[in-house]
Amino acid sequence: MNGIYLLLGSNMGNRLEYLREAEQLLISKGIQIVDESSIYETEPWGKENQDWFLNVVLQIETSSTPEVLLNMILEVEKSIGRIRKEKWGERSIDIDILYYNETVLKSDQLTVPHPGIPERRFTLIPLVEMCPLELHPTSLKNHMTLLAECDDPLDCKLTDYKL
Ligand code: ADP
Ligand code: MG
Repeated sequence: MNGIYLLLGSNMGNRLEYLREAEQLLISKGIQIVDESSIYETEPWGKENQDWFLNVVLQIETSSTPEVLLNMILEVEKSIGRIRKEKWGERSIDIDILYYNETVLKSDQLTVPHPGIPERRFTLIPLVEMCPLELHPTSLKNHMTLLAECDDPLDCKLTDYKL
């Protein structure tokens, strides 16, 4: 895997505005956006009875370590006013680190690659769009293969929205 990838998601209020605000706050912290996926509208994962998400994957560049990057992301989430109520509950903005190049790490605060990647179509579909042949660093499978093998039944629809 080559590149640092983030997944942004929102399922509350003006979802597109929250994604845009998050991107701008990341840029204001010195993070460069190298590439972005289409925006997808996706069925909520893990918990039903909440609104659908908008999701987008960003490829970024930063000289920050994964731990410092996580802290920046948590600050962005906080300043956009995410209220942490329940696991997998609704959120104005969620930002996850999917990949940090080939880095594999697991601590109390941070797991990279994000453990949800192989089991979530809303993550794999934008990754197939951006980097279909890049290899997931622990399974050593590319994104096309991971998507073909993924049995997540939840819907993930391409939209015309632009950041
Ligand atoms: P989720 O994104 O799994 O639905 P949360 O966003 O509420 O759940 O979880 C946030 C916590 O997850 C963060 O405080 C962070 O410490 C931890 N975390 C572990 N690995 C990652 C990762 N790869 N990206 C973002 N957060 C992570
Ligand atoms: Mg998160």
